[in-house]
Amino acid sequence: MHELLIYAIYLIPLVILIIIFRRKNRKRSTEAQAEWQEAIAAGLTEPPSLHPYIDPAICIGAVSCAKECPEKAIGIIDHKGYFINPSVCIGHGACAAVCPSGAIRLVFGTEKRGIDIPFVSSNFETNIEGLFIAGELGGMGLIRKAVEQGKQAISNIKKRRVAGTDYDVIIIGAGPAGISATLGAQEAGLRYLTLEQEDAIGGTALHYPRQKIVMTAPMTLPQIGIIKLTEISKEALIELWTDVANKTGIKINFNERMDSLRHENGKFIVTTPKGQYKTGSVLLAVGRRGTPRKLEVSGEELAKVCYRLVDSSQYQGKHALVVGGGDSALEAALSLADEPGTTVTLIHRSEVFTGAKPKNRERIKAAEQGGRIKVLMKSKVIKITNDRVQLDINGQPMEIPNDVVIVCAGGTLPIPMLKEIGIRVETRYGT
Ligand SMILES: Cc1cc2nc3c(=O)[nH]c(=O)nc-3n(C[C@H](O)[C@H](O)[C@H](O)COP(=O)(O)OP(=O)(O)OC[C@H]3O[C@@H](n4cnc5c(N)ncnc54)[C@H](O)[C@@H]3O)c2cc1C
Repeated sequence: MHELLIYAIYLIPLVILIIIFRRKNRKRSTEAQAEWQEAIAAGLTEPPSLHPYIDPAICIGAVSCAKECPEKAIGIIDHKGYFINPSVCIGHGACAAVCPSGAIRLVFGTEKRGIDIPFVSSNFETNIEGLFIAGELGGMGLIRKAVEQGKQAISNIKKRRVAGTDYDVIIIGAGPAGISATLGAQEAGLRYLTLEQEDAIGGTALHYPRQKIVMTAPMTLPQIGIIKLTEISKEALIELWTDVANKTGIKINFNERMDSLRHENGKFIVTTPKGQYKTGSVLLAVGRRGTPRKLEVSGEELAKVCYRLVDSSQYQGKHALVVGGGDSALEAALSLADEPGTTVTLIHRSEVFTGAKPKNRERIKAAEQGGRIKVLMKSKVIKITNDRVQLDINGQPMEIPNDVVIVCAGGTLPIPMLKEIGIRVETRYGT
């Protein structure tokens, strides 16, 4: 009797613990499976760049990877880690660092979708002498790493001087890599020119969702020193870059896109819509978002056409047209629809919004049903004029009043241009 009592004292809590553990596992599995199904339904099953590959033969389902991933890209299904939300992965590799069994390795591309990575040596130079690459274009994501690479690239570039040029270095892009490189170039007394296609500093962070919490780590900027950051909002990060630029007086040519790059007799010719510049070295810090894809229609050059929604309040009471079918288009349309008196039309060339998260698709549906957004599928823009747009709605012409066009049609990377000038590019399929 006494022995039975002792068994009960030890066994009952153990059984309760096992039941709780199993329930927790089941709940975790169900949630992860639902998340994966959502990603499939939205067509968001391919990661943008560097991402984890979890070897199922080695994975012990330790959960630490899922807990460590701030983007919630990994889930545990039936005691194994799965990459359940590939499109949100930014490739920082925190999952791989904590995996106790070494089942996770970071790879580029997948079997289905290859990723082009330019060849870059340890001093950030490509196989073309004088042409350097820093930051995410070279395949390594994250703000801190881009800052470090921009700085290191300049410390190699400053050793090169080419006579008969306008500049020692032209830096393309004012994201973290380009900002850090520009600070370094100014500190080293180089004749530099920084070109940025957008109207503001910060790079990809300008496109993060509003109030996104950016996870980073302390980094050292030329001229500024160490910046002790771990978490910061997107808005505060952009403010930080703006303060750094104001404090140091670095010069950035905004709204000036590099259109082409030529290599002639050891010098580079950079062409933009505003001019041609001759330089001894070029640092490509253009990231992997690319140059916004254009509609290629008459009137696209009008000032009312833009490729990013900065502040929806400026369009209060206006007629807005949003073009695109991904999350950024849907979120822009929803944000505009919140403004009093704004009429919003959202058009997409396909029949469904396959590239957007279910949550955004549901919000658009509700806004459409509530009469806040007019949604036109299988549609495209034909012509833009000062106060109207001409559309093609499934083969039928339509004209609507218009004050602003926001184009969210993705971007194109300069890979063909890099290949053309002879940079070695490797297509990676999950390696
Ligand atoms: C949604 C999202 C969330 C993220 N969250 C985090 C996070 O929390 N922490 C973190 O560390 N990282 C995060 N990242 C990754 C991080 O944003 C990038 O790794 C980092 O911005 C790369 O810096 P970069 O300077 O290489 O390129 P980018 O920041 O992409 O900057 C490149 C710049 O080049 C410009 N450019 C491009 N082509 C041209 C051209 N032809 N002419 C002139 N200018 C050009 C672009 O306009 C852009 O301003 C996130 C990424 C995304 C998409």
